[in-house]
Amino acid sequence: METKVISGKELAQLHQLQMKDRVEMLYNKYGRKPKLAVILVGDDAGSVSYVKGKEKACINVGIENLTIKKPATITQDELLAIINDLNNDPLVDGILVQLPLPKHINETYVINSIAPTKDVDGFHPQNVASLYLKQPGIIPCTPKGIIQVIESAGIKIQGKRACVVGRSNIVGLPVAKLMTDKNATVTIAHSKTENLIEVTKEADILIVAIGRPKFIKKEGVKEGAVVIDVGVNRDLETGKLCGDVDFDDVFGHASYITKVPGGIGPMTITCLMENTLECYLKHVEEK
Ligand code: NDP
Repeated sequence: METKVISGKELAQLHQLQMKDRVEMLYNKYGRKPKLAVILVGDDAGSVSYVKGKEKACINVGIENLTIKKPATITQDELLAIINDLNNDPLVDGILVQLPLPKHINETYVINSIAPTKDVDGFHPQNVASLYLKQPGIIPCTPKGIIQVIESAGIKIQGKRACVVGRSNIVGLPVAKLMTDKNATVTIAHSKTENLIEVTKEADILIVAIGRPKFIKKEGVKEGAVVIDVGVNRDLETGKLCGDVDFDDVFGHASYITKVPGGIGPMTITCLMENTLECYLKHVEEK
């Protein structure tokens, strides 16, 4: 079977170009650019690289970026004070605290301290509740990007059987909710699922977010299924980045597949830009 690779990278470039024009137009109208503040605690290599990617996207789109770097020894109170200042700064539209945080800092407490109207990650309980109640709010970036990737390829979601492997608060659960809202029939699988292969094989659309390199093989994929690989892992043999799906094994068996890197990652960052723009619009239009 012919497998089409959906390029999240190309889609991200297209969306960012469109957003750049829009940001320019809005700048002319409102006299200021959207502004995203990113707080980076410590020097974890993954986090540093993600933050660089976000800075680059801000430049592409014309969003003002403020990256606040703090050592891993920062106290929780010091971090909360920075967030409080950003919450009260009328020129800051979005606040993102790069996770994970050092162990002595309570992540939940930190996330909950971000003003819901500036919570561009969509992790604040108020935004989580809005998603589940179908009320206006900020949708988390990765799940939002996954839906855009699927729809960009012209894939129909309504009525399809979808399986989401992984049930984290940031990917699995919210993407399962979004797929449900798009009228898919959704199964959520996880580490305690029995006969996982039998479950995943039922899916027309299989979304995998588990953090296990090349875990999903052809035998767990229905022929002709759409496979969305969210995982970002190091291949234990080559040391290169790879997904949760064994791309080479599934290629030729699925109808569509996303790649790692170049799949969901770039769309996650693009949706972060979209969320910042949404927050900005609320702020400037409320004035
Ligand atoms: P978490 O570790 O928070 O959650 C992992 C989930 O996978 C859990 O629900 C866990 O089940 C499930 N799981 C783990 N092992 C298995 C298994 N063997 N079989 C079935 N289910 C399993 O991870 P995240 O959701 O934060 O991230 C998942 C992956 O996606 C990671 O590789 C991460 O790097 C990547 N990611 C990529 C992003 C992007 O932009 N491309 C953004 C965010 C994440 P249980 O609940 O039972 O423990």
